[in-house]
Amino acid sequence: MSDKLLVVGEVRDNDIRNVSFEAIAAARQIDQDAEIVGVLLSDSDLTSAGEELIAYGADSVITVTHENLKTYTSEGYGQALLEIIDELSPKGIVMGHTSIGKDLTPKIASRLSTGLISDVVAIEQDGENSIFIRPIYSGKAFEKKAFEDDFIFVTIRPNNIAALEKDDSRSGDVSAKDVDIKDLRTIVKDVVRKASDGVDLSEANVIVAGGRGVKSADGFKPLYELAEVLGGAVGASRGACDADYCDYALQIGQTGKVVTPDLYIAVGISGAIQHLAGMSNSKVIVAINKDAESNIFNIADYGIVGDLFEVIPLLIEEIKKVKV
Ligand SMILES: Cc1cc2nc3c(=O)[nH]c(=O)nc-3n(C[C@H](O)[C@H](O)[C@H](O)COP(=O)(O)OP(=O)(O)OC[C@H]3O[C@@H](n4cnc5c(N)ncnc54)[C@H](O)[C@@H]3O)c2cc1C
Repeated sequence: MSDKLLVVGEVRDNDIRNVSFEAIAAARQIDQDAEIVGVLLSDSDLTSAGEELIAYGADSVITVTHENLKTYTSEGYGQALLEIIDELSPKGIVMGHTSIGKDLTPKIASRLSTGLISDVVAIEQDGENSIFIRPIYSGKAFEKKAFEDDFIFVTIRPNNIAALEKDDSRSGDVSAKDVDIKDLRTIVKDVVRKASDGVDLSEANVIVAGGRGVKSADGFKPLYELAEVLGGAVGASRGACDADYCDYALQIGQTGKVVTPDLYIAVGISGAIQHLAGMSNSKVIVAINKDAESNIFNIADYGIVGDLFEVIPLLIEEIKKVKV
């Protein structure tokens, strides 16, 4: 085993996802002295993405460019990653707990006959050992886990471990590796994105989420406007999705997305336990609800009791004044 820690980054539409930088910070927390090797996979040139990984703390980057890596498949990514693992014999792997990370890492762990600690939100050191903290029971409790053997394999939840400061003066080797990605049993013909073009929900710093209290698809318009002035994304409760006010791609909660933005504004959402499971770790929670007894106020840092259709336009107006 070498002293290398692999960090598998993610590129979407030629942009590196923030969680890739957070994974580098996590790798650095796991081992201050390890050589952090970033891995990027795509069908297009990854040189500048690789250089960005280095600016965020990777020591070197291996890129694999192949037409069969245009869209994610566990087989394609798995072939590339297993070949790199075979060559480098790293002491561990860190990846984002994203839809790709969630799908790929258990398969790789199984192929390597090793353990995997997923959805890590914080890392503690106990002497030489890293202790990984992850939520359980839909976020109602946290457990601390460690590896019994020396190999570390974790996925980290986006927006929980702060990326290192970007340092453009850092330098490191970005090398392209040839891997023949072949015999794929699954070929993705087309990807139809359901979510809007705006800020990605799982990585947004600000989320304005609407519930059944928003009452209609039209009722979401002021929420989009508020999200826009705050540079954030719109999410929803399952109540709102079930009522067809918005797409299920926006659903936050136990059976939706898990988010941890800096600011979560819950609008017309009652605060059912299944909704809280997806957002209760947000840094600051603001609730707008006309029912002062609503459960959402029990976890809100700031509560506004009132009609959302009166409160939201006032908020937009005030925020616009501050931004001018
Ligand atoms: C297995 C399972 C999984 C589930 N997974 C999820 C999940 O992932 N995510 C999720 O969200 N839910 C999930 N649910 C559903 C969950 O239990 C709730 O039913 C749902 O979250 C309720 O959505 P809501 O808060 O929008 O609606 P409601 O509970 O109907 O609340 C609407 C709120 O809007 C307020 N309101 C109404 N009008 C106004 C107004 N004009 N101004 C201000 N406030 C107003 C009301 O006071 C009320 O508090 C799941 C349920 C089950 C059983």
